[in-house]
Amino acid sequence: MSRYKHVFFDLDRTLWDMDGNSYHTICELAEKHRFADRGIHSMDEFICKYKVINDQLWSDYSLNLVDKDTLRSERFKRAFGLFGIQDDAFAEAFGKDYVEHSPLKSQLMPHSLDVLDYLSSKYQLHIITNGFEEVQHVKLEKSNLKKYFNSVVTSEMASCKKPDVKIFEFSMNLAKADATNSIMIGDSLEADIVGARNSGMAQVFYNPERKAHSEAVTHEISCLSELKGIL
Ligand SMILES: [Mg+2]
Repeated sequence: MSRYKHVFFDLDRTLWDMDGNSYHTICELAEKHRFADRGIHSMDEFICKYKVINDQLWSDYSLNLVDKDTLRSERFKRAFGLFGIQDDAFAEAFGKDYVEHSPLKSQLMPHSLDVLDYLSSKYQLHIITNGFEEVQHVKLEKSNLKKYFNSVVTSEMASCKKPDVKIFEFSMNLAKADATNSIMIGDSLEADIVGARNSGMAQVFYNPERKAHSEAVTHEISCLSELKGIL
């Protein structure tokens, strides 16, 4: 019998396909906001550059180097700036549309539902996410994930962010779990895996791109379906 009772999941890029959903949202909104008239002709190029900026800002956010408002206002401003567009009002309007539309997308990482069906009959499932309160709940609802989870903790709710051990402790308290019967699954070595390890939880590093690293992890998988062999 498994020692675990509680399985904690990260949301973005672990269950919810953030890159796929972001790509489709930006492509749709680019038509409405007339990117072509502004000189942006390659969506792939724009999204590739946006992704680097957005990932950096999220990393800064998780380390408390920038706040939510800065993250949201800066990411498109900087991306448009790389294409010679210095127009704060345009960046702000696009960013606002993006925040409204992207959580409505429901593309999931491969095998998400299949694995959640399997795990939910054996364990209590929970979410720990650095994403924002008003956005993450919409994503869970729209992508039919909500019914699987006994608790959902966002960084805003816990007033701290992964990798801070406090958010893991907050989540375990809420779930009435403890570190010895809990396991964390996530795609970020820095935020999910190191954070969970420091809080005493076991960890599963979801590494679909099989990136090389030197962290000690309890388990590592490249496909969510491998969880059935672990749990
Ligand atoms: Mg993630």
